[in-house]
Amino acid sequence: MYVVFLGAPGAGKGTQAAEVAKELKLAHIATGDMFRDAQKKGTKLALEAKTYMDKGMLVPDEITIKMVLERISAPDCVKGVIFDGFPRNLAQAQALDKAMAEQSKAIDHVVYIKVSEEELLKRLGGRWICRQCQSPYHEVASPPKVKGKCDKCGGELYQRSDDVPATIKERLKVFFAQTAPLIDYYSKTGKLVEVNGEGGMDEIKQRILKAVGKKSPR
Ligand code: ADP
Ligand code: ZN
Repeated sequence: MYVVFLGAPGAGKGTQAAEVAKELKLAHIATGDMFRDAQKKGTKLALEAKTYMDKGMLVPDEITIKMVLERISAPDCVKGVIFDGFPRNLAQAQALDKAMAEQSKAIDHVVYIKVSEEELLKRLGGRWICRQCQSPYHEVASPPKVKGKCDKCGGELYQRSDDVPATIKERLKVFFAQTAPLIDYYSKTGKLVEVNGEGGMDEIKQRILKAVGKKSPR
């Protein structure tokens, strides 16, 4: 099963994509995480990507599309994939459709996680992320038990360099201008399902599982 997760920055895409991928045993392809991982290794391409990310802009399509197409030909993607943060504009969506068709595959569902703009701003402001397992926390809404430490793995929490107010504004702008048109693009294929992204983590996960036609064991 191939599923695309759409949602604004702060919609909870990353958390839900990781949970749902684990439950359904699908590969999780998160382009933002891939760029941040590459930056730790300090490759030239990754450092170029960082200059865009820190401004809240999209990394150029040549870099992004090539990286994803390489990733989907890996063996762990045969059973299916959850795409998280890709595609993010029309050119990327078309490149993905083409690559999938060439492998006789197709996207089964597109899950649009919808959250109000007011809530997005609140969430992005106080976000802290685990360096080791990428679990997100929020100063007010979901603080860790021990300040600065991940509940799940004990890893150190940090604030992303693009989670500063000016960059947050730009990322939301980019979402509404470039990514939101994909809602229309995919609704024409009949594959789009809209899920309310406000509520408890587990509640939202259940909504997503239902939207892709899977029931949770509980
Ligand atoms: P968020 O969804 O919270 O903005 P991500 O980790 O998905 O976080 O993305 C962070 C940044 O990485 C984006 O603002 C952008 O600069 C870059 N990025 C991630 N995915 C893509 C993509 N598909 N195309 C271009 N740039 C991307
Ligand atoms: Zn952790």
